[in-house]
Amino acid sequence: AKCLRDGVFSKGELQRFGNIELSPSAGVLNYGQGLFEGLKAYRKQDGNILLFRPEENAMRMRMGAERMCMPSPSVEHFVEAVKAIVLANKRWIPPAGKGSLYIRPLLMGSGAVLGLAPAPEYTFLIYVSPVGNYFKEGIAPINLIVERELHRATPGGTGGVKTIGNYAAVLKAQSAAKAKGYSDVLYLDCVHKRYLEEVSSCNIFVVKDNVISTPAIKGTILPGITRKSIIDVARSQGFQVEERLVDVEELLNADEVFCTGTAVVVSPVGSITYLGKRVSYGEGGFGAVSEQLYSVLTQLQMGLIEDKLNWTLELN
Ligand code: PMP
Repeated sequence: AKCLRDGVFSKGELQRFGNIELSPSAGVLNYGQGLFEGLKAYRKQDGNILLFRPEENAMRMRMGAERMCMPSPSVEHFVEAVKAIVLANKRWIPPAGKGSLYIRPLLMGSGAVLGLAPAPEYTFLIYVSPVGNYFKEGIAPINLIVERELHRATPGGTGGVKTIGNYAAVLKAQSAAKAKGYSDVLYLDCVHKRYLEEVSSCNIFVVKDNVISTPAIKGTILPGITRKSIIDVARSQGFQVEERLVDVEELLNADEVFCTGTAVVVSPVGSITYLGKRVSYGEGGFGAVSEQLYSVLTQLQMGLIEDKLNWTLELN
């Protein structure tokens, strides 16, 4: 769908996946005026399809658009467009339990600009791809390294929205970590270099004595939809959950650490390396708390337990 700076998006149409045409002076190419989202469609045992909280992605895109001086489609338009593309690609959705269809909405300044300014025209598009389960051979804990020098976000910057530039900012630290055999990077706040922020594409939780803690949302970390859902699931299961400043030193005596995100769902962290010291958790799998949360969330997403909170949208 296309829109001028006036905020009114055209209805849009389905097209075969392929290259798109952009002016070399498109706002997104020159000044990074772009946002994206990520969500998944799961196939149920009965063949129907479930989307998980798509209106949350729509609202997050709207929030990001405000920060990036972009118009954005309405929540209804966003959800209708997601439904249309999922139904049109139904044959690509893996059977129940064998993966999901990853859905990638993009919003960008596609109009031409020369001097620094918001683009005069915007494009909203969605593409999809089948993806396997994140862990092909059972649950594999991830190994993180704490990064002290390179930051993905600064106070007052764009770290709290899903803009493309945030991902460019993590490439260097992430590539270095991977080259050293780590799965990913855990970022610290850039002011004190002491409080946990998040991983390159997921949020982080720490468990100590059955109390679950996660960094509070304060503009420099992405408000993950899985994070928010896990907090609600944990509280409904009777756990105490704290959203607060989490000191990196707390990792040293945590019982469990886990990450949440659309791609990783809930993943156990097997070890964290900080200032050259490696701390390990669990024995090659989930800790008891994260396993319980993983189990409830994945059963909800796949329609295996009753969806009392109305989080899933069923399509057939
Ligand atoms: N943090 C970052 C930087 C991310 O890119 C993502 C993935 N969207 C997340 C956290 C997790 O968010 P969600 O649970 O909405 O996928």
